Amino acid sequence: MNDSLEWALEQDAADELAPLREEFLFPPATPLYFAGHSLGLQPRRAREYVLQELDDWARHGVEGHFSARHPWFSYHELLTAPTARLVGALPHEVVVMNTLSVNLHLLMVSFYRPHSGKHRILIERGAFPSDQYAVASQVRFHGYDPAEAVVESDEPLRDLKPDVALALIGNVNYLSGRAYDMPALVRAAHAQECIIGFDLAHGAGNLELALHEWRVDFAAWCNYKYLNAGPGGLGGVFIHERHAGEDLPRFEGWWGHDKAHRFEMAPKYSPIFGAEAWQLSNPPILQLAALRASMELFDRAGMPALRRKGERLTAYLEFVLRDICQVLTPPQRGSMLTVRFRWDATQLVGALRSHGAAVDLRPPDIVRITPMPLYNSFADVQRLGALLRDLHG
Ligand SMILES: *Cc1c(COP(=O)(O)O)cnc(C)c1O
Repeated sequence: MNDSLEWALEQDAADELAPLREEFLFPPATPLYFAGHSLGLQPRRAREYVLQELDDWARHGVEGHFSARHPWFSYHELLTAPTARLVGALPHEVVVMNTLSVNLHLLMVSFYRPHSGKHRILIERGAFPSDQYAVASQVRFHGYDPAEAVVESDEPLRDLKPDVALALIGNVNYLSGRAYDMPALVRAAHAQECIIGFDLAHGAGNLELALHEWRVDFAAWCNYKYLNAGPGGLGGVFIHERHAGEDLPRFEGWWGHDKAHRFEMAPKYSPIFGAEAWQLSNPPILQLAALRASMELFDRAGMPALRRKGERLTAYLEFVLRDICQVLTPPQRGSMLTVRFRWDATQLVGALRSHGAAVDLRPPDIVRITPMPLYNSFADVQRLGALLRDLHG
């Protein structure tokens, strides 16, 4: 590795994933885009796919449910196979629906079943605030006091005790960028007969996952960060197949009902086998259309190749940032680096933006920077480093 643009361009020339960059729209004012962990860039084809559904709506009206080019009745199924490949699941273990915080609640309705002696929820310390609010409100809903029943842990592996009913771990942690050892956590949780779910908002599309094989109980993630579904994009859900036939409490709606008989509008709920049984409503087609454009690109690249490139890109970022800042992210990580600069972070991030670089500030002094293997290049990273040295060298 070295700091020269020549070296970076050589890496890009040899990178078989490099052409995927052309499939994305970079904001004209911030061509050095390192904020994909907050909002992924727009895939070029997202517009075409969304317009196709607007056209079919204009052309078919209500008939579009069955006679659109991609009938809306089953549109979400177009996302099933790519989503299953993305997270290492069987097709009937995943569904795209709702948004992340909503899905966490729906999953906790089924998987947080506290009883005396086993009522606590374990989360990683510094979990995303929405997750903290969600678990605190679930605990209160069951009549417990969050101050006592929610355990915030520095080392979840160590704190999986018999009184834990549910562990909900953000993997990767949204702020520190730390990646936990998921298979080890699952084994430790199950040894205590504790259910374990993961918030993969920063894990899906970032790490290589094998949710089925690892026997994760459930997982949920948003698709608009690493997965480029667009603002407010729909979330993904995984429920291990061994829970599909179980008699779990669940909030239900017509979209989870047996498809062959859904429109008979029978009074009794007859669930689809698998994660789709957790669907309540018919989903927003325009959002699904945008997500399709991105998932095609993940399929083209494949997670193993993306992770290999991601590791190299992030290692290069760490290299170009050496001597400029302190890296807070531990070695077990995905693509994101969380750093602290010696200079005023607000000014620095403002100066970067005015020079065309988007990073992400967590006040007062934490900056998150993510080179995305799907669309960032080694030259992007080199230019960011050079810019930082110019600004503060
Ligand atoms: C981004 C993020 C959320 C956001 O939740 P939404 O319901 O999609 O608004 C929640 N949890 C984590 C860990 C996140 O990173």
